Amino acid sequence: MAINDSREIPTAKRIVVKVGSSSISGANAGQLETLVSALAQAHTKGAEVVLVSSGAIATGMPLLNLESKPEDLATSQALASVGQSRLIARYQNELENSKIVAGQVLFTAADLEQQETKENAKRAMERLLELRVLPIVNENDTVATQEIRFGDNDNLAAQVAILLNADVLILLSDIDALYDRPPKLEGAQRIEWVTYEDDLEGIEIGDTSTGFGTGGARTKVTAAKLANRHGIPVLLTDTHKVAEALAGGRVGTWFEQQES
Ligand code: GLU
Repeated sequence: MAINDSREIPTAKRIVVKVGSSSISGANAGQLETLVSALAQAHTKGAEVVLVSSGAIATGMPLLNLESKPEDLATSQALASVGQSRLIARYQNELENSKIVAGQVLFTAADLEQQETKENAKRAMERLLELRVLPIVNENDTVATQEIRFGDNDNLAAQVAILLNADVLILLSDIDALYDRPPKLEGAQRIEWVTYEDDLEGIEIGDTSTGFGTGGARTKVTAAKLANRHGIPVLLTDTHKVAEALAGGRVGTWFEQQES
């Protein structure tokens, strides 16, 4: 049964949730616990939950005593290498409370392009879900090059949701919804519902976000629209509101999917 409203999220069988680096690292590191407890609750109730989490590079920075994001690719790759394992360890540690096993899945853009590798990725993910593992997906940043990247994890999350034919994709952010202009500007209006036909031409969408993320509203809207075209509805909301969102609260911005 298709999900047509955020209030129907509790009936979703397969949910992909995406969280960005700035929501779970640095000053917001404590938010990881809140996120995991909400995901664990949905998983325990029987949903298949997949998390797409950024944060490898941000997590690696203090480990290698770096204060700002490096410009060069090789240092970013090294940071991702040390940060990714630490990130998964943090998730597994929290999931332990609910006796849930995490599975790390790292994709490169090419994995989801060719039919054969795509089917291979799908088979592995489906098996993890059958085994009641909670897959935690990120881009394989240690081997990704600037030219061949997903670019941002919003896009990766949409592609994972499409690959798995998820019932809903939840994009978590540091803002609570989409606004008709950057929310810090006076008079910015919250948008609660984006119809499938709405190309959002009239609104002013920011390109960058603060902190470590590569996203901002632009990548979220692009990812939401991509998922919508493949029949998947998307909720964009604040990371603080993840439990409310999973419980069917009326939060964030709902992006309506193309009807199948
Ligand atoms: N994959 C990157 C990381 O884990 C982040 C990409 C993004 O910010 O969207 O650090």
